[in-house]
Amino acid sequence: MGERQKVSEWAGFIDYDRTLADTSAHVARFRATLLSLGVSGDEINMMREQQHQLESAGVTVSLLSFVRDLAVARGPQIVDDFSDAYANIEGYPVNFPDAGAFLRRAQEAGPFIIGTWGIDQEWQILKLRASGYESLPYQILSDQNKARVIAGCRQSDGTYILRPDNEFAPVVTRNCWLVDDKARAFDGYGGVGFLLQRNRNEVLPSQRGEVPSSVVIIESLDSLVFNNQGVPSARGRQLQGDFRT
Ligand SMILES: [Mg+2]
Repeated sequence: MGERQKVSEWAGFIDYDRTLADTSAHVARFRATLLSLGVSGDEINMMREQQHQLESAGVTVSLLSFVRDLAVARGPQIVDDFSDAYANIEGYPVNFPDAGAFLRRAQEAGPFIIGTWGIDQEWQILKLRASGYESLPYQILSDQNKARVIAGCRQSDGTYILRPDNEFAPVVTRNCWLVDDKARAFDGYGGVGFLLQRNRNEVLPSQRGEVPSSVVIIESLDSLVFNNQGVPSARGRQLQGDFRT
């Protein structure tokens, strides 16, 4: 278009899985949705068993891939039926209780993008729909290291350009901030970052690791506040930046 884009001072990069949305709540929603479509509990347990086996062999699978497998016996309509039901089923919220208020604060402070990593685009989008976030700027990433993703957005003049996958305009910003639940998302990161550690006693192997000194560990998204320049900081108790347990 050749139009000069507005450059913001700060823009956020917000992880989706386990930061905004609860993975086990997605599993509960998955189960409830399939049960509502007449899939038996035994069949669902078998899918989960298969998923655990594949994951312990180092293979990542999406829950939606199991629904596609059902199409062999039940016809292809099952995938659309599942998707509609999954997006709309009542009573199985997937967002963490602090996510909504945090996103509202972030939205007031400036632009942000929700970054979600996944091997199955359709499933990632369906999860965003279940969250009610499909109408926010998002990007589905093929790299789990968000520091590298952000570095890849850096332009020759030092600004960053974030490009949502959906209808939103690209964001040009001088500074990025990042929030994620996985330490390794910050590998090589030198910017403003927040490692979300909701429960230090239940740290998953995939979340472990050290984070750079510029990254602050927070226990809740409620800790993240923005000043009137849109600069994020963590209020309240701050934990050590070195996190190994
Ligand atoms: Mg995550």
